[in-house]
Amino acid sequence: MSKANVLETILNTTTFIPKNFIDDVKTYLPNNLSIESFIEYCQKPLRRSVRVNTLKMTVTEFKQYCSENNWKIEAVPWCNTGFWLERSTEEEDSLPLGSTDIHLSGGIYVQEASSMLPPMALESSLKEDDIVLDMAAAPGSKTSQIAAMMNNRGVLVANELSSSRLKVLAANMKRMGVHNCALSHFDGAVFGDYMFECFDNIQLDAPCSGEGTVRKDADALKNWSVESNIDIANVQKQLIKSAFFALKPGGSLIYSTCTLTPIENQAVCQYLLDQFGDCVEIEPLDALFENADKACTSEGYLHVWPQIFDSEGFFIAKFKKLYSIDNPNLKTKKGAFPFSSADTKLTKTFMSAIKKQFGIKSLPGELKVRDKELWLFPERFSEIENKIKYSRIGIKLGTTHKNGVRLEHEFATALGKLAENNTYALTQSQAADYYQGKDIRLETVTSLCGEVILTLCGAPIGLGKWQKSKIKNSLPRDLVMNNRVIEWSR
Ligand code: SAM
Repeated sequence: MSKANVLETILNTTTFIPKNFIDDVKTYLPNNLSIESFIEYCQKPLRRSVRVNTLKMTVTEFKQYCSENNWKIEAVPWCNTGFWLERSTEEEDSLPLGSTDIHLSGGIYVQEASSMLPPMALESSLKEDDIVLDMAAAPGSKTSQIAAMMNNRGVLVANELSSSRLKVLAANMKRMGVHNCALSHFDGAVFGDYMFECFDNIQLDAPCSGEGTVRKDADALKNWSVESNIDIANVQKQLIKSAFFALKPGGSLIYSTCTLTPIENQAVCQYLLDQFGDCVEIEPLDALFENADKACTSEGYLHVWPQIFDSEGFFIAKFKKLYSIDNPNLKTKKGAFPFSSADTKLTKTFMSAIKKQFGIKSLPGELKVRDKELWLFPERFSEIENKIKYSRIGIKLGTTHKNGVRLEHEFATALGKLAENNTYALTQSQAADYYQGKDIRLETVTSLCGEVILTLCGAPIGLGKWQKSKIKNSLPRDLVMNNRVIEWSR
């Protein structure tokens, strides 16, 4: 950026908005919106919003929790599980939202309201047992939203190119209790050739220049230039083309970005339409929710400017694949699949052990083994198991040893809801002890033995072991927290 441009930057807040960006926006801002209100909203702090994770708690339970804790909430009009949320400054300073019981237990995900739109746009096409791809998934807000919409059924392939972000994605899926996911670590451009017409539905929440995110990140426009918009659009075109190849005929594709420029939005969509002609159709989003038409473009896309709904900027388009297409570059993976089905003996022993201890009678998916590890794979995963190499499939249930299976933490966080016996609801102070790695003291001596699923805010959060006057803590070492959690002093 030139010196003059830096000097001309609008600096009446700490938000960095370069003049050449504003000049560019003026060329495509719709007539009914003013540049002044755009700038004003870019400089306003963003309202915080959360999404209730219905895999862990109901919206009614969430509302009850908010009322008991004096949290002010307002429903997000386009998402039945989304809420803007306000806490007192005193409470927020004393205990950040991320350290509260409802957050640690996976009951909520902090997610910007407009970022809830792409999965909502997919909803009318989504069936619970679908095979779905989330092509650019980390940190996983939309992956977990879709997993909840699928009720943890079917299979959801969540792909991410960056290794560090893939780890965050995996951790978030664990906290949210998602077990229908298979994680992969590729450039999304590979899916069209390796997984040609494999998916019932696809979400491509593309990497983008993030012009819509200045309200959250004051430096989002620091390196802004039209040249970088064009570079990113070239990646987006590769990804959208790959996604369309990977989509089954009759399936729907959501393309979204958190940026505003038509270079990364309308032009990328037009590229898809030009490439695939009669085989692709736009599914208009003007009736997605009341007032959606206020953000709808003439093509039927949603172009959410920050000032329309007082949110971040976002762009969402939906397409349907009408017919099968030819792909001359089909590729197949080499190498053997390292898992096999659990044999009858192991299946029987394991199922009777979890029935006896927890009253769990069946599991949603297939039991698989790799060496001594026992895994639960998502339903229908076998249909796509040999197509690509996955980083992680479903959840690890435990490790076999000579007397049975030693259960994993994830068994409890993802499947604990199925338990009818041996669950224990932690109080807030017991839960604080649990997350700090301490054992849980019981008021009276118990005669119960074996493992117990611990719950918080009604959601399963981990395992412990009954031991007379205490529950022995089984929280994995790497999840132990040293900061203040759950309790705060008023
Ligand atoms: N969908 C995510 C969510 O809701 O939490 C946000 C996704 S973010 C907008 C885009 C992601 O794409 C980033 O995590 C980035 O690392 C990843 N990415 C960048 N290039 C990619 C590529 N070629 N293939 C797949 N993912 C890519």
